[in-house]
Amino acid sequence: MALKLSDVKTAVHNDWCPGCGDFGIEASLQMALTEIPIDLHKVALFSGIGCSGKIVHWTNTFGIHTLHGRVLPFAQGAKLANPDLEVIALGGDGDGFGIGVGHFVHAGRRNIDMTYIIHDNQVYGLTKGQASPTLALGTQTKSLPEPNINSSLNPIMLALSAGFTFIARSYSFDNRHLKDTIKRAIAHKGFAFVDVLQPCPTYNDINTKDWYAGEDLPKDEKTNRAIPRYYDVEKTTNFDPKIPPGLDEEQVEQKLLQVIGLARQWGEKIPIGVLYQNENVSTYDQRMLKRIESYLTSPPAKQSVVEDDGKSKVDLTKLSDQLRV
Ligand code: SF4
Ligand code: MG
Repeated sequence: MALKLSDVKTAVHNDWCPGCGDFGIEASLQMALTEIPIDLHKVALFSGIGCSGKIVHWTNTFGIHTLHGRVLPFAQGAKLANPDLEVIALGGDGDGFGIGVGHFVHAGRRNIDMTYIIHDNQVYGLTKGQASPTLALGTQTKSLPEPNINSSLNPIMLALSAGFTFIARSYSFDNRHLKDTIKRAIAHKGFAFVDVLQPCPTYNDINTKDWYAGEDLPKDEKTNRAIPRYYDVEKTTNFDPKIPPGLDEEQVEQKLLQVIGLARQWGEKIPIGVLYQNENVSTYDQRMLKRIESYLTSPPAKQSVVEDDGKSKVDLTKLSDQLRV
């Protein structure tokens, strides 16, 4: 039976600031979960520390609010232990690209079949708006006494070089685009990363909803309306993010150059959409199956940890000896 939105929302009070882009991510994620054939009891959301982390409290799935920067180790561990779960990790740009950036890079190398959604607002919102790793050099948001002295990290380029096999960008106030992107990320076979541009109206007074809507740019000559900075690159150009099987090296390189070109676009034009998808790379469970044939039929979460008499199967006094074998 199809799920309704009320099935995936909890009744817990939501305390994000009015107008926060996080509401759009929450709504899009929950809409996506109602539109895919999935049992909610098989969905596990993991979040890091930051405003974004609260999303697990408001979504009616299993939800684990983890530690600062450590959402990926928790989420990957759960997926490895129980490959039947649909694992979705969520976190902020400060959490994921600051303290958590090492985990991000190594997650790309593993290609575990799961999803990671970053709420990218260019600031540390929960701790009063310090510059996050994605804030552009020279930008002075309202909490900063001086313009940002560091260059910004480019999430798309980093994900591409780390080996993520699905890389997308969306916008939190384009619910339909974000919902569809999340559905595609979940359907992807491999590690899917979605960078969501998310206005923080309380602390980021530069990259606001009006800024993304292009209110400061010249108007459309015909309609006299603002032209949004963000544009759907898949719908409005002939760009195709997929790497089909059998491309030769030169063709792959051409594709990658296209993705790098899009990743570098920022300012008056910001592409959103799936920017890269490659299902020709083995997933981590396929690699595990080559070593442990029973991995999917008898993963760690389904193995008994106690004997019939209730005693642990692991003798802790001998554990280090067993691990050395
Ligand atoms: Fe949203 Fe910013 Fe408020 Fe956090 S501080 S809830 S990111 S508006
Ligand atoms: Mg942030």
